[in-house]
Amino acid sequence: MRGMIFDVQEMTVHDGPGCRITFFLKGCPLTCRWCHNPEGQHFEQEIMFVKNRCTHCGSCVQNGKRNPELCPTGALKTCGQQITSEELVQRAVKMKSTLEMLEGGVTFSGGEPCAQPEFLLDCLTQLKKEGIHTAIETSGYCDEIWFRKIIEQCDYVMMDLKLMDDHQHYQMTGVSNKIILKNAEILKNSGLSFCFRTPLIPGITDTEKNLSELALWIGQSPWEKIPYNELASVKYEQLNRTYSLK
Ligand code: SF4
Repeated sequence: MRGMIFDVQEMTVHDGPGCRITFFLKGCPLTCRWCHNPEGQHFEQEIMFVKNRCTHCGSCVQNGKRNPELCPTGALKTCGQQITSEELVQRAVKMKSTLEMLEGGVTFSGGEPCAQPEFLLDCLTQLKKEGIHTAIETSGYCDEIWFRKIIEQCDYVMMDLKLMDDHQHYQMTGVSNKIILKNAEILKNSGLSFCFRTPLIPGITDTEKNLSELALWIGQSPWEKIPYNELASVKYEQLNRTYSLK
């Protein structure tokens, strides 16, 4: 099974219990205005340009086009690489004893990991067979049948709940929140270990109205509020895109 990832981070401590290895799956059906991983939004490979690393040497130019492979400074880089589920699992297995010692495991983030459901499920199933703790960070925007299959293979689920007002949710993320709330209900009743997360975006998600509606809906379930990441805008420039919340 092949999937597309755009980053791998080892020894992460904010992506679930303990110390973990986090795989970032490329592609997301949402376009949150505040997304701090814009390089994870598009499903296909793309080029990132880190201006302050460029020495203007011109080595990257080939037949009038820029080739990241030729850049000696890393100013130009390809974002997105194909990986098989076996390769991914083997990478985690190599770290198994360390992850166990640090009470951690493997987390799938993104982009939206559930947007590559077959690949994700295959990885999760194999990791479980290896006895490695599994977790996902998800927007919950996923077909209900796949969502149920995927969380069944998770030891821990971190799910975003951003905006309760469906119209505002559509305006700010590009999608309705209906299926997200349905999947959140499934998670609430799953018996699994999980927490809901809300990014606190100034004037958008952190309003008293939105937070009190969320608090009412979430009830006694675990809930984390994530501070706004002001550095998100930098990556948009590297992708030659505009950060709309500037
Ligand atoms: S090869 Fe790299 S450093 Fe040289 S001009 Fe191209 S992007 Fe800049």
